[in-house]
Amino acid sequence: MNIGRFEIEQLSEGIFEIFEDGLIQKSTLSEIKEESGLPGVKESSHYIGINPLLIRDGKHNVLVDTGLGWGLDHRSSYTDTSNLLTNLDIFGLTPADITHVVLSHLHYDHAAGSTYVDHNTSTQPTMSYANYFLQKKEWYFALEETARGHQRPGAGYQLDELYKLAAEDKLVLITDQQFELLPGIQIIRTGGHTPGHQIVKIQDAGETAYFLGDLIPSEFHLNHYAMRKMDVNAVESKKAKTLILRQALKENAVLLFYHSLHAKAGKLVLNQSKKFALKDIR
Ligand SMILES: [Zn+2]
Repeated sequence: MNIGRFEIEQLSEGIFEIFEDGLIQKSTLSEIKEESGLPGVKESSHYIGINPLLIRDGKHNVLVDTGLGWGLDHRSSYTDTSNLLTNLDIFGLTPADITHVVLSHLHYDHAAGSTYVDHNTSTQPTMSYANYFLQKKEWYFALEETARGHQRPGAGYQLDELYKLAAEDKLVLITDQQFELLPGIQIIRTGGHTPGHQIVKIQDAGETAYFLGDLIPSEFHLNHYAMRKMDVNAVESKKAKTLILRQALKENAVLLFYHSLHAKAGKLVLNQSKKFALKDIR
């Protein structure tokens, strides 16, 4: 898909089942069909896709969220998962070609692919030449939660492997609420889901797209304002979500969902009952 001069790809790691305690397990579409009967998938919200985003403009290759990273480690038991390496390969890229990494937040289903364990059992940055952009608030909140041994329902923090990024000075800790990564690529802190949760706005030549992270994980969350127990601050989350959706509607923007199974991207429209809906763009 193109947004102005940017080429945008959703890199899918596949479909996973997520349990209350945060455990994640690989699933296949046939298992989901058996259990829930598509399109009733919406009822079984414990099935999630993992879809990092690749943004290219010919000079820069920006990756937004790094996924679970299964199979990246030396001697990993996950041999058949599609991870960043296999997904980038489709576009003729290697992790070394990535110029910037943006992390919406540090929950492990969004950030674990940022590093891998090499042949010498030493942790290495997966994207060796990139800086990793995240909110300063997110880093310190994740450190605090980890130190307290505190975990909320859903995927939590597993920072062990990310300390290496800090040690190698690869982290860029953003303090601004809005931050221009590159001309046309803006990072916006929304908070809510976590205090330092951020989304990405891509804009060029009158076209706009939003990568929403866990602010709006999938198309099924568009009209869903229930206080989610996964959010650290559900009120802040609701506020940010209302603002962004209003703005996106005005801008005729494409929404990109990280946890969608199928309709991963679409233009926001209002349907007859004034609810948000997605217009397919493919
Ligand atoms: Zn999360």
